Amino acid sequence: MLGSHDSFVLHGLRHGWRRIWRGGVDALLPPQCMLCTVQVDEPGRLCLNCWPSVNFIAAPCCPVCGIPYAVPVPDALVCGACLKQPPPFARARAAFIYGGGGRDLVLRFKRGDRTDLAPGLAMLMRNAGAALLADCDVILPVPLHRWRLWRRRFNQSALLAQALGRIADRPVRLDLLERPRPTRSLGRLNRTARQRELAGAIRVAAGRAEEVRGRRLLLVDDVFTTGATVNACCRALRRAGAAEVTVLTLARVVRAEQGAI
Ligand SMILES: [Zn+2]
Ligand SMILES: [Zn+2]
Repeated sequence: MLGSHDSFVLHGLRHGWRRIWRGGVDALLPPQCMLCTVQVDEPGRLCLNCWPSVNFIAAPCCPVCGIPYAVPVPDALVCGACLKQPPPFARARAAFIYGGGGRDLVLRFKRGDRTDLAPGLAMLMRNAGAALLADCDVILPVPLHRWRLWRRRFNQSALLAQALGRIADRPVRLDLLERPRPTRSLGRLNRTARQRELAGAIRVAAGRAEEVRGRRLLLVDDVFTTGATVNACCRALRRAGAAEVTVLTLARVVRAEQGAI
């Protein structure tokens, strides 16, 4: 007779073997497009049909926040929002606009447990943020509060940061920032309420300020929505003496009125 502990161990073993088996089978199968089942040359690629469904951000864009311009503009023309209120980061870039195939990619990665997409997505981010990667000393992700980490089982931003670190050969530090308390979803809050919700919610971790001071840091997140979370991280890093903070995200929410100037 097996005790409950033994059966638990057996279950774990069986589960483990299934995962190894699946991993082996996946390695034998030809790589598939990140969005569909079409075969591609290498893992982490998009097929020719899916590629146009992703709205990649290219020049011209605001040299500070990276918002794409709908019409050609002279080089280095800073957007109205950045002129009105300079953001706490030196530069921000995103691989693509959050919508269409870009939104599907984010949701697959974040909610579909497709953590295997991280290296392919990081390659898309590298294309958008090559200059930022070249100029940084350390890469770090936007932190998750531990309850959310427990519920989601992984920090999607940390996976992207680690993949970018490997691609760009830069050190990645996961513990420079911390979220001492959970925050509500910021989506429906107005600007003032978002700032109030985030006040003191993100800080440089105890004993880590020395590793921030004087460094050029690249902050990684999955989606740049209002910028509230990213801005809170940047302010905490700058207060701790960071030499420069830049931001690289996978996707960026662009409202109709922002894209055209
Ligand atoms: Zn495809
Ligand atoms: Zn701007």
